[in-house]
Amino acid sequence: MAAKIKRNDQVQVTAGKDRGRRGQVRTVLPEAGRAVVTGINMIKKHQRSTGPQQPGGIIEREAPISLANLAVICASCGEAARVGFRLLEDGRKVRFCKKCNEAID
Ligand SMILES: [Zn+2]
Repeated sequence: MAAKIKRNDQVQVTAGKDRGRRGQVRTVLPEAGRAVVTGINMIKKHQRSTGPQQPGGIIEREAPISLANLAVICASCGEAARVGFRLLEDGRKVRFCKKCNEAID
């Protein structure tokens, strides 16, 4: 199945504590069905000091979020789009926004 969400997409969170927030997809983890999105699903992680260069403390980082809770933001209409797929004449499959009908890829 073709991916609805790809690396570097602008996405909006549709569920959970970050609902409504937007960010850019940094990594997609297809096997886990999750993605890491810049600034989304931040978790605090306690880091132990490993030496003078690594002082330790609490660091914040993104945890992977379920792809089911993300929607691609359509560049044409600016909305969190429901994505469909369309087959081009040359056989390529492209994503399109079901709202404004514009291609996303
Ligand atoms: Zn659109």
